[in-house]
Amino acid sequence: MASEATRPRVVLYNPQAVFYTLPLALVAVGSHLDRRRYDVQIIDARITPDAHQRLAAAAVGALCVGVTVLTGAPIRDALAASRAVKAAAPEVPVVWGGWHPSMFPAECLAEPAVDITVQAQGEVTFAELVDRLAAGQDAAGCAGSAYRSAAGRVVRNPPRPLADLNTLAPQDYGLLAVPQYYELKGRRQLDYISSQGCYFRCAFCADPFVYQRQWTGLAPERIGEELQHWQQRFHFDDVNFQDETFFTRLERVAAVAEEFLRRDLRVTWAATMRADQGHRMSDEQWALCKRSGLRRVLVGVESGSQAMMDRIQKDIKLEWVYEVAERARRHQVAVQFPFIVGFPGETPDDVAASLAVAKRLRQQSPLFTTPIFYFKPYPGTSITSQAVADGYQLPRTLEEWQDFDFVGSRGPWVSPQVYRRVEAFKFYSEVAYGPRSLRSRLFGAVARWRCHHDRYGLALEQRLAELVWRPARLA
Ligand code: SF4
Repeated sequence: MASEATRPRVVLYNPQAVFYTLPLALVAVGSHLDRRRYDVQIIDARITPDAHQRLAAAAVGALCVGVTVLTGAPIRDALAASRAVKAAAPEVPVVWGGWHPSMFPAECLAEPAVDITVQAQGEVTFAELVDRLAAGQDAAGCAGSAYRSAAGRVVRNPPRPLADLNTLAPQDYGLLAVPQYYELKGRRQLDYISSQGCYFRCAFCADPFVYQRQWTGLAPERIGEELQHWQQRFHFDDVNFQDETFFTRLERVAAVAEEFLRRDLRVTWAATMRADQGHRMSDEQWALCKRSGLRRVLVGVESGSQAMMDRIQKDIKLEWVYEVAERARRHQVAVQFPFIVGFPGETPDDVAASLAVAKRLRQQSPLFTTPIFYFKPYPGTSITSQAVADGYQLPRTLEEWQDFDFVGSRGPWVSPQVYRRVEAFKFYSEVAYGPRSLRSRLFGAVARWRCHHDRYGLALEQRLAELVWRPARLA
């Protein structure tokens, strides 16, 4: 293998964000590069002091810089970092990948500091781009990418078919300072992706647009082998599967659980589940998952109104949500049941139905939580197309997109009254049914009374609490 000094350097950058998930997209694309030929370095702004200066210094003489970009606030730092690269090394190509460039290649390429974008699954596309750049070629014809031509025109290459994950290189966590993330997360937790994509068609979700309703998953044996290998090095005690829909194939899930047991991994794990999947799982499969360490599943409910659920094409029935809740309660598995309020056309009755279902779930087990988010119109979805047809203006520039975040904001479809009610419900249901805390000791009785009677007006306790405690940060 050539030495670091002689191998061309590929620098990968993860922008600032308010969560500490391992930068798995960068690990995936970095691992899939031919490491005998390229020196791969990851700079994560969340754990690197003076990240822009370091990135700029690493970019000088590099083959290219890759930046992963999520819609919302991370765009701000991705832009600043890319401009810092161009100021230090104008000739080095900057490649953006991830959710935002997958949906908006042309808008991203309107920024002079971005030269190429990668759409959807990035491993094979980025590896081909890097080989082309090393050979002095450009991105013309590289499937799965878009680029700005010498004449300044945005050119979109054809899409690249989704590759079977089992044909891609194993994820090399050695590219990361993993223990630093444990400190930020406050636990020895490894994030891991065992599958990509999703077969479903929820009308508010960007996944069907980006992955075209396809799915690919790693074989259980490979998952077990990789996790065992990295556990021996990084000694984690929890695995957080960051898949869109981990429980897509139940026989695969059962085989993964068997792998955990056969290899005596002794870790807990958490993953995403749809209500139809949890409803289809047998009691034996639930028990097997629990035995292998399953501690928490995330089951999107989105709405407590079946009519609204049907409109957003969630393709689940409320009864299945209750059944999953009952199974999880019996097997002592925690569940996050997220809801979304503020879909266009949602009525106050729909919102009331969502709060009622959330309350019912919270009452079932102290292990259940029901976070409520406000709808954001992602492009490529039927809801957004309708909203745009009705006059809603999506952000156009990267600067406008960087303010497009769900943290603490709501769309035009949530009236001030509904917003106040939802915020009050979030406060009182947490105090009434959440873990014991100073707030629950002070306000628990009144919060339970308010939730029981659905009386959230004049939320004095909430206002007092907000004066004393700052709102929790999204983590
Ligand atoms: S919300 Fe989940 S289940 Fe629905 S399309 Fe998106 S990833 Fe798939």
